[in-house]
Amino acid sequence: MRDYKLVVLGAGGVGKSSITVQFVQGVYFESYDPTIEDSYRKQIEVDGKTVELEILDTAGVAQFTAMRELYIKSGRGFLLVYSVTDENSLKELLTLREQVLRIKDSTNVPMVLIGNKCDLSNERVLSPEDGINVSQQWGKVPFYETSARVKTNVEEAFTDVIRQIMIREAMT
Ligand code: GDP
Ligand code: MG
Repeated sequence: MRDYKLVVLGAGGVGKSSITVQFVQGVYFESYDPTIEDSYRKQIEVDGKTVELEILDTAGVAQFTAMRELYIKSGRGFLLVYSVTDENSLKELLTLREQVLRIKDSTNVPMVLIGNKCDLSNERVLSPEDGINVSQQWGKVPFYETSARVKTNVEEAFTDVIRQIMIREAMT
């Protein structure tokens, strides 16, 4: 069976843990320890192929640690998460993406851009167009607005990045 390592990246508080746990366990909790970095395993069937996922839910602010460098290097697919309620969180992804491309030494890395917390319409400061613009700048990286809370597009975003990995595998 194929083993795929996925890495969930983004600023603190955007919902990385919530999205990951919603996807892996199908539940939503109001709070997680923001300092905990954990990995989760899940078997999933996509387009008739079963894959074993290892999902690293990253945490912390030390973006240039050796640890981070290592897991980016071994990551096959990346979920870059911001919150639609936090303008800065989208800006932070620009640096994170640069870092991923540099470490992977490629401009063509399986990746999705995620604008989370789309259920919070009253607190929203970023529009879908803001996400679309960034995804265009990045060469049409697939973009999803998600809500870990009400379970919108979480499965879709993970499945997208898994498909991207599968396509690359089929080509090599
Ligand atoms: P992380 O630091 O990126 O791992 O963020 P967390 O997953 O710990 O989430 C930070 C806070 O935002 C928590 O209080 C979550 O309950 C909340 N949160 C996460 N995702 C959503 C969402 O989709 N909608 C709403 N309304 N709140 C969310
Ligand atoms: Mg977290």
